Amino acid sequence: MAMSTATDPVASFERLARGRARAGRLTHLERWPARDGRQVPWPTWTPPELVHRFHGYGVDRPWSHQAEAAELAWAGRHVVVATGTGSGKSLGYLLPGLSTITGSAAGRVKDQPTVLYLAPTKALAHDQLAVLGDIARDLPVVRATAVDGDTSRDERDWAREHASWVLTNPDMLHRSMLPGHARWARLLGNLAYVVVDECHHYRGVFGSHVAQVLRRLRRVATHYGAGPTFVLASATVAEPAACASTLTGLPVAAVTDDGSPRGPGVLALWEPPLTEMRGEHGAPTRRSATAETAELLSDLVVDGVRALAFVRSRRAAETVALSAKRQLANVEPSLADSVAAYRGGYLAEDRRELEQGLRSGRLLGAAATNALELGIDLVGLDAVLVAGFPGTRAALWQQLGRAGRRGRSSVGVLVARDDPLDTYLVRHPEALLGKPLEATVSDPDNPYVLGPHLCAAAEELALTEDDLELFGPNARTGVDALTADGMLRRRPRGWFWTRRERACDLADIRSSGGPQVQVVEHPDGRVLGTVDAGAAHTNVHTGAVHLHQGRSYLVRELDLAASVALVERADPDWTTTAREITDIEVVGTSRSRSVGAATVVFGSVRVTSQVVGFLRRLLTGEVLGEEPLHLPQRQLTTAAVWWTLDEARVVSSGVRSTDVPGAAHAAEHAAIGLLPLFATCDRWDIGGVSTALHRDTGQLTVFVYDGHPGGAGFAERGYDVVEQWLATTRAAIAGCECRTGCPSCVQSPKCGNGNEPLHKAGAVALLDVLLAGRADTMSPGSTI
Ligand SMILES: [Zn+2]
Ligand SMILES: [Zn+2]
Repeated sequence: MAMSTATDPVASFERLARGRARAGRLTHLERWPARDGRQVPWPTWTPPELVHRFHGYGVDRPWSHQAEAAELAWAGRHVVVATGTGSGKSLGYLLPGLSTITGSAAGRVKDQPTVLYLAPTKALAHDQLAVLGDIARDLPVVRATAVDGDTSRDERDWAREHASWVLTNPDMLHRSMLPGHARWARLLGNLAYVVVDECHHYRGVFGSHVAQVLRRLRRVATHYGAGPTFVLASATVAEPAACASTLTGLPVAAVTDDGSPRGPGVLALWEPPLTEMRGEHGAPTRRSATAETAELLSDLVVDGVRALAFVRSRRAAETVALSAKRQLANVEPSLADSVAAYRGGYLAEDRRELEQGLRSGRLLGAAATNALELGIDLVGLDAVLVAGFPGTRAALWQQLGRAGRRGRSSVGVLVARDDPLDTYLVRHPEALLGKPLEATVSDPDNPYVLGPHLCAAAEELALTEDDLELFGPNARTGVDALTADGMLRRRPRGWFWTRRERACDLADIRSSGGPQVQVVEHPDGRVLGTVDAGAAHTNVHTGAVHLHQGRSYLVRELDLAASVALVERADPDWTTTAREITDIEVVGTSRSRSVGAATVVFGSVRVTSQVVGFLRRLLTGEVLGEEPLHLPQRQLTTAAVWWTLDEARVVSSGVRSTDVPGAAHAAEHAAIGLLPLFATCDRWDIGGVSTALHRDTGQLTVFVYDGHPGGAGFAERGYDVVEQWLATTRAAIAGCECRTGCPSCVQSPKCGNGNEPLHKAGAVALLDVLLAGRADTMSPGSTI
């Protein structure tokens, strides 16, 4: 008799999904058969010793997309590889980079070609260094090293004098290598390739900064006589070539046809059921994604399926693991210890032990924060459960990519949270499974971002007239303003930096601009982190519940004069939402067009807001009470997209005039909830204002603006795809089975107005009028 083996993961999942108590929760099951890889010959220019090394490393021949990218890069074309997780994008740059270096082995160190590799995190750069070390073990000419904040002076000196492959991050480039470029002249002057790995991380304000750092890099490299080819690697996103081009300022070709193999599997979209509980304004609430995930996790573990659940916070990781253990203790006590929590903040050895346990099968299940998303190698699971859409498709596929053991099928499950985006996604699988909609946007022309980099560039090398084009259309105005302010001085050879301090200190590329408020733990005075001053009023006001790396704190005091929020550890069973009054003023119009019955505008606005109090709310949504706050007004000048409807159209929608404000407000909330489907933003990166009559437009107006000074590219992306965006918004509202609005459609967890007034049916009617005459209004599938 054959030995019994563990259940096939897909069969196990299908059986538990069929359970009668779970009817209706599985909203979609996408199956894919195993896909054979497409291998192609090594490019003819690959040095034989390199082919030999790759064979030794287990790479027989490249997959088609790897060769395609490598050929383009070898020919000097800037290229972005945007293929699936685990498809081996790195060969696309390793092949031309290593071939160039080994091919010129005869030359002196001084003239040898070099490669600069940029990763968004130190951990990833070190992982890549390890891979490179393995492949290039017998190739002494490849002298690779990582340079980051932890690198010793000796190591840095060695890198400057000898390294042919330097792995670093944009922060190092910005603060150290570019300002001190003379000492890196050998590396910069021989640059053959610049690799920008995981480039979808460079989005929003951070992406805008990195785009300017790359322009500075290009200018300095040119100064030393180099013209490197850029090779970028990205998760699958919409318009990868355009995104990579915005980031580098160069024309970039995209490779998107994935030639790597994959095993058979399924992706399940899962919606927790509505409960008897009532939330804000009596809205129906769903069972939480974490409770649902814990149950699925324990059921899979009972079947011997190795499963990993991704959750948002440390507390949720502990909760899911604990409740899965409890359920297992009831049905299969011997398995209760086979589930663990795995989260950021554990000691390295504990993490390694957990990883080892999962690989060996001693552990069958774990609940993890996304701490292991980057840099840690944990693969070979049978099933991945994702509790709540992690914000971008790229992050979702990265998490799902952890499933798939050799010769076994794999299961991925997205469990929806109770919000408009998650709800939309589990009901519209085409938005996840079709062509990607979300683009990695940034706005390098943002004057708040550009200014500091112009200063840094001028300090690196005098800025000339010819340089201005490189820094974009706002460079001229920016330089003039900086000159008028005395930051730059014009001399015959160009603009110079005039100050004693380092110009690069003007830009903190990881912050979203503006001063920071320090979050300090009471009583020991430990600094937990910082919050942008702009967000401090709403996030860390006195009395707020503040989450930091998955732990919760209560804010004792927000001291604006000292820029400090004093917090203490607490586990309250309520959350807080700031009550805020907001006023918005149109500053200027950049572009506008007619869409259906509406006029849609992209332009700049001044948002004036004041936090006046906060609500305390139980986790179920029930409101405990409101407390007043006395905080000063704040102003934000930023980019916005807005649409207006004239009175006749509003009347034609049939919405009663008293319901119009609620209808516009509801449409605004849902639109904000859905924008992350099109731009790599979080709903917390954007804000909105809606009004039945706005004094600047004289019409009903709904604004959606970037929450960062000068803008971050999100509103602009919204403008570019406004038809699809609003059609999707309409479908999300209309498709929700609640009667008068709930967190799955028009209620917003960050509403400054306590989700009042909201009129769900009116929002649909307004959007119908707005989109009238557009054939694809009713079928988002056709627009995707
Ligand atoms: Zn609803
Ligand atoms: Zn609101």
